[in-house]
Amino acid sequence: MNILSLNTSIQVCTLCKLSRTRNNSVAGEGSSSPKVMFVGEAPGNREDSEGRPFVGYAGRILDSALNKARIKRSDIFITNVVKCRPPNNRRPQKDEILACRRYLDKQFSLLSPKIICILGSTAYRSILGGKSIIADRGKIVKKEGKKFFLTVHPASIRYNKILYSALESDMLTLARMCNSKSGLPQRNTTEKKKRIALSKRRSTN
Ligand code: URA
Repeated sequence: MNILSLNTSIQVCTLCKLSRTRNNSVAGEGSSSPKVMFVGEAPGNREDSEGRPFVGYAGRILDSALNKARIKRSDIFITNVVKCRPPNNRRPQKDEILACRRYLDKQFSLLSPKIICILGSTAYRSILGGKSIIADRGKIVKKEGKKFFLTVHPASIRYNKILYSALESDMLTLARMCNSKSGLPQRNTTEKKKRIALSKRRSTN
């Protein structure tokens, strides 16, 4: 199976009750060889009408944080724990998450991203069994040969503006991880350039 046939299976999926109320399922989109794959909770109203992930309010917040970190949407892959919108934007239920899990696992194996970025508590709980995304954001978790990076859900900023700087700073950390050979956070590159320039100046003086 390739990513296109997987998307087709997701589009016609009837494994759970969300298939009866959706307009469009939202498989996800982006690079077919992404360094980072982002996993949110579930499509909202706008995503359900367009069939694309993170195109509404949460998408605008995410885009702004990605732009600051110079991460291009075309270089990453964005998806959700469940691929269909829960009615009235309620949280996805256990049986819906379980039914959809096969698609997420297939996306992990087909796209094999270097890092999986968990957006918010639903993804954190269901994929890693985590409790508090606020307490754990910015951390790296390794599980079953995969590397996960944790951050807050962009929509949570609507209720707590302070979380925006957390999201922005986490995106900068993520960008540095992607650019480093070890896949671990590196110092800020401007800082690095300044240090190199300074040591060059010292060696020529
Ligand atoms: N919130 C999500 O978790 N995913 C989307 O695609 C949009 C909003």
